Amino acid sequence: AITTKDLQHLLALIAGDIAAHRDHLCELDGAIGDGDHGLAMDAGCEAAAKAVGALDPAQTAPTAAFNAAAKAFLNAVGASSGPLYATAFMRAGAAVKDKAELSDDDVLRAFAAMAQGVQERGKAEPGEKTMVDAWRPAADAALHAWADGAALRQSLDMAERAARQGCEATKDMTAAKGRASRLGERVIGHVDPGAASAAIIIASIAKFVR
Ligand code: ADP
Ligand code: MG
Ligand code: MG
Repeated sequence: AITTKDLQHLLALIAGDIAAHRDHLCELDGAIGDGDHGLAMDAGCEAAAKAVGALDPAQTAPTAAFNAAAKAFLNAVGASSGPLYATAFMRAGAAVKDKAELSDDDVLRAFAAMAQGVQERGKAEPGEKTMVDAWRPAADAALHAWADGAALRQSLDMAERAARQGCEATKDMTAAKGRASRLGERVIGHVDPGAASAAIIIASIAKFVR
């Protein structure tokens, strides 16, 4: 089972992976946005990892840890990704309310709730060149694999692959949401930075359960 202590490790892992890609994410955002996406995600993930890391795992339920991550992420980020990930973490917490530790089923529901949270907060549909193009297919792939009887780690491996493919597919899209939506056809050929960071986070989660 996954405990609050495990969530501390997961958030630290995510923060490290995002930090390693910070400059690349800024470059992607520089091409079709304002160039701050790597800084925003690095600050948000670092703050979330730090806030959750400071909690006493023996006294803190997973829901409270997710809520602390949400609050820290929101406070640290002044870009669009702030409220999107804050909502994702809050929804993950709500999905596992009253659990002292998380079963594989709980982890999957929390993961799917993150995707749903991003989608509802940003009101974006797949195909609009946003992080939803990584999160939605990833959650669908995981839920599908799980329903077919796959184990958690296989389900999240499917999610990782779907997120990578979904991110790659944003290259061919024009943007209907966010800053890039003002640039019309000029954004074609460029990967969406939010989809790229989502694919990194989803890969971190898959790596964590392996
Ligand atoms: P900002 O554009 O405010 O600088 P960031 O650079 O942190 O914010 O994030 C940009 C990313 O946010 C985009 O690449 C896109 O993936 C995502 N995004 C923007 N608007 C939305 C939305 N309405 N729904 C989902 N994702 C969005
Ligand atoms: Mg930006
Ligand atoms: Mg910005």
